[in-house]
Amino acid sequence: MTIHKNCFASDNYAGICPEVWQAMEEANHGFATSYGDDPWTEKACGKIRELFETDCEIFFVFNGTAANSLALASLCHSYNSIICHESAHVETDECGATEFFSNGTKILLADGENGKISLDSIEHIVNKRTDIHYPKPKAISITQSTELGTVYRPDEVRAIGDLAKRLDLKLHMDGARFANAVAALNVAPKEITWQAGVDVLCFGGTKNGMAISEAIIFFDRKLAAEFDYRCKQAGQLASKMRFLSAPWIGLLENGAWLKNAAHANSCAALLEAKLSIIPGVSVMFPRDANAIFLQMPPELAERLRDLGWKFYTFIGAGGARFLCSWKTSEEEIEALVADISRLVKSS
Ligand SMILES: *Cc1c(COP(=O)(O)O)cnc(C)c1O
Repeated sequence: MTIHKNCFASDNYAGICPEVWQAMEEANHGFATSYGDDPWTEKACGKIRELFETDCEIFFVFNGTAANSLALASLCHSYNSIICHESAHVETDECGATEFFSNGTKILLADGENGKISLDSIEHIVNKRTDIHYPKPKAISITQSTELGTVYRPDEVRAIGDLAKRLDLKLHMDGARFANAVAALNVAPKEITWQAGVDVLCFGGTKNGMAISEAIIFFDRKLAAEFDYRCKQAGQLASKMRFLSAPWIGLLENGAWLKNAAHANSCAALLEAKLSIIPGVSVMFPRDANAIFLQMPPELAERLRDLGWKFYTFIGAGGARFLCSWKTSEEEIEALVADISRLVKSS
């Protein structure tokens, strides 16, 4: 068994899961109408509507940055603002794509513990100013699961949804790891999306086992008006769309999306349990999904890297981030823990 020492760097280091590979293979026959007018795209949209138990509007794009920024831009005018957590991917890791595609909509940063936006912080930002000189708040963006590996409970999403309604704001969810949140909470997807007030969800496929593809799901179909033009202009309308949509059939048809996410989550739980008995390192945030942030002395992190392990320390709120994916193995977890344990003992 090969130990891949780069397997914890991100869940996008993993390859394509067998169910997705198979679905792409099955789509790779004959000719099909381009730009989304094909049977695979129709079927994939049907599967997503079934999963969310509602008649939503769906678009497939190449990556999460495009999904988030185009969805958010569609909710706002250029003079509006979007409220998100200070650690949100749309703020820290998308190179200003939301501001770019919205022609200048400003992102306003809220805070809150463990990567979750606080209601007080949202209210404060909205009520601080209501004059013409302030960028008028129009949307809230939350990440599920969060950049710090935590998960909003259904009542927490609902509270944000209720507040959004009261303040006349739209609610966007960055669901690059939505599957991990559903697996962690053991809820129906509708309970943490449209039933809780989410207007648009960017449902991540890449980190769940696809090569490419993220689904933008408008639960309020009116908000999707002319969104296809936005995708096309941004270079996000795939001509061979069947290869962005067929993977969703592979993931959704027999529950691979949830199996993959649950596997990643349980790997992270195992890693957490094994690390918890090592002195000198500590897990920084409540682990709800597939990410662990480890507080460790910088020398230890350096020596761990010398042994070949790859992990990021610049994401979120500091600490060494270890992410598990559909492909992570118990052997890899044991090898990592053994190395950390050995380094701690010899230091
Ligand atoms: C990975 C990720 C995305 C998408 O990133 P791309 O590299 O653009 O696909 C979006 N949001 C979060 C929280 C992510 O972790």
